[in-house]
Amino acid sequence: MSHPVRGRFGPFGGQYVPETLMGALEELEGLWHEAKADPQFQLELAGHRHAFVGRPTPLYAATRLGEHFGGAHIHLKREDLCHTGAHKLNNALGQALLALRMGKKRLIAETGAGQHGVAVATVAARFGLECTVYMGTEDMHRQSMNVRRMKLLNAEVCEVTTGTRTLKDATSEAIRDWVTNVGTTHYIIGSVVGPHPYPELVRDLQRVIGDEAREQYLQADGKLPDAVIACVGGGSNAIGMFTAFLEDRDVTLIGVEAGGSGVKSGKHAASLVGGRPGVLHGTYSYLLQDGDGQILPTHSISAGLDYPGVGPEHAFLRDTERVEYVAVTDKDAVAAFKLCTRLEGIMPALEPSHALHHAGVLARQFGPGGRILVCLSGRGDKDMDSVESYE
Ligand SMILES: *Cc1c(COP(=O)(O)O)cnc(C)c1O
Repeated sequence: MSHPVRGRFGPFGGQYVPETLMGALEELEGLWHEAKADPQFQLELAGHRHAFVGRPTPLYAATRLGEHFGGAHIHLKREDLCHTGAHKLNNALGQALLALRMGKKRLIAETGAGQHGVAVATVAARFGLECTVYMGTEDMHRQSMNVRRMKLLNAEVCEVTTGTRTLKDATSEAIRDWVTNVGTTHYIIGSVVGPHPYPELVRDLQRVIGDEAREQYLQADGKLPDAVIACVGGGSNAIGMFTAFLEDRDVTLIGVEAGGSGVKSGKHAASLVGGRPGVLHGTYSYLLQDGDGQILPTHSISAGLDYPGVGPEHAFLRDTERVEYVAVTDKDAVAAFKLCTRLEGIMPALEPSHALHHAGVLARQFGPGGRILVCLSGRGDKDMDSVESYE
């Protein structure tokens, strides 16, 4: 797919940031293009991906789930088996190597569910870098285990008490820190959001998911799946999965957003299904906003999907209709979490449980011949309390 304007996906994307950050964004963009083309860097990245992250992650045939849904073939790309339990480390690792290349000794990050914070704290420990993670009070309560993990990894966890005290506010605080300390600090944003070059950089670091999965699927089945499904918060595991399949016109791509209590209820986090375009955190994309452009409070049972915006490339893929976006409710996600755990012995995170529910809907439509690939973006240990206390 061609993107004629630098840093834009159609009208979406851009760099809506204070003047003081423009230099750092340009430096990052230049450095990434240089590193991408450097065989030494690629070799180093591949080495860490293998020995530290645990790549390649397996492709798994979920036969009992498939039978349950009427006989379709469902495969899971096992990002839950990445070190620290989710795909987030793919991005954090690559950006930590870039920080080292820039000579920056301090990493900062925002986090919602805490998975990205844990990933950044982990690479900071691995490479001997200082680390500060911003997290909303609300999320610190919901995900206290990850707070403890970050602290044990020697990261400073800064509690964010402003606004809705969730991911949106943590992101604003992280950007504020970066503006102040840009000379010494690299900001590792956790998804394909934020100003250019982050949406491209994070996509490039996550596309390993789809590149591996496409090859593994062909190896296992001899042809491509009918549909590929991934959950969408900011959109990094989904873009990481979809990028390899964009040119495969016969493969249906579906992004699943957090429908919360239902899109009509207003209590959800489905920016592409229920929002409209605007600017947040440096980029122009779909947002949940009121008539005055004020950001609306979001709701999802999964902290990792609880963000009012979405990556600008997804906005473009939505408007050009290459990817279809749907919303799945808390209730359906919890049911899919339980089903996958009981039928497969794999406890998925609540985020990809949204995608698993939709895989079930699609499997019933397709029938026994259907072939579906799902990105299992993370494991569900962190979500046991949320699932047990639901209703
Ligand atoms: C953070 C997270 C997500 C949502 O982030 P994306 O950038 O949309 O991928 C999804 N699944 C898991 C397991 C996560 O930790």
